Amino acid sequence: MNESGVDFVKVAVRVRPLSDSEQNAGHICAVDTNEDLGIIEVKNASNENDVKDPPKTFMFDTVFGQQSKQVDVYNKAARPVVENVLQGYNGTIFAYGQTGTGKTYTMEGDRSVPEKRGIIPNSFAHIFGFIAKAEENKTFLVRVSYLEIYNEEVRDLLGKGKKLDVRERADVGVYVKDLSTYVVHNATDMEKIMTLGNKNRAVGSTNMNAHSSRSHAIFTITVECSEKTNEKLQHVRVGKLHLVDLAGSERQSKTGATGERLKEASKINLSLSTLGNVISALVDGKSGHVPYRNSKLTRLLQDSLGGNAKTLMCANIGPADYNYDETISTLRYASRAQ
Ligand code: ADP
Ligand code: MG
Repeated sequence: MNESGVDFVKVAVRVRPLSDSEQNAGHICAVDTNEDLGIIEVKNASNENDVKDPPKTFMFDTVFGQQSKQVDVYNKAARPVVENVLQGYNGTIFAYGQTGTGKTYTMEGDRSVPEKRGIIPNSFAHIFGFIAKAEENKTFLVRVSYLEIYNEEVRDLLGKGKKLDVRERADVGVYVKDLSTYVVHNATDMEKIMTLGNKNRAVGSTNMNAHSSRSHAIFTITVECSEKTNEKLQHVRVGKLHLVDLAGSERQSKTGATGERLKEASKINLSLSTLGNVISALVDGKSGHVPYRNSKLTRLLQDSLGGNAKTLMCANIGPADYNYDETISTLRYASRAQ
């Protein structure tokens, strides 16, 4: 919570289950969670008897253990952000973490299995459920766009992956010039759009997983509500929700990257560290300077971070002992955001 008592950033940590291949390789679980207290404890299994390296404990707003369900993640962590958007404010939900820890599972999930749907499809259902129940004097317009930031370049995922420019204008703020935007009428329309965008995400890359681990994907939903209070008066409220599947946070220097890979790595590091700095400057509330301009990611999200906007940072970690260093680094990053 910052000085003014505004608690606009919530941090959730989610631990995925040990995978079959991790189990078969004999890896053990090094992470303990207490969901009631919001506590996570991580043991350094390679160093277990060293008194100088005791288990490390972290505390967060919300902790989701290995058995957590998608619907609980939505209801406990994501729903308040989407509610706020439906009231006409902005919001951002991030999935942060090392590649393979469940960012895409948390954000998108398996859309073909109802109980495995992630935050994005659940927010579609929530938004259109809300609209269906709204009073008759209210009309809604829902628009979506879907882009990725790869190597500090913006690509339009609903426009064949075309590279686009980021611009700024006094009246509208920061925007992406010529970004494709679609009006959607129901959750099925949004599903189709996600599928289309995901197809474009893979275009030009030989390996979809490798590509997605190095780019940030931003799915944006704008909800505009016009309310007739009497025959003449129209009151319009606009809320914008950014749903962000971040690039993998693993330190690429360890992987011995060179050339193009090294360039990509330094851009990812820059944008993730800028995001951390922006959020901690906002949470701190004392720092006059918030470094939004230092990366494309934070520039594009500027109007939805801070102010009246609500933010959820969902940090994803794996449970296995061999991920110790990355797990600790993710938990430290997440700690700074609260
Ligand atoms: P990331 O996007 O962070 O690289 P993924 O979301 O692709 O990671 O997850 C890696 C693998 O782990 C996938 O096979 C995914 O289905 C599985 N997985 C991730 N989180 C969970 C979870 N909470 N429960 C079950 N399986 C999960
Ligand atoms: Mg992913």
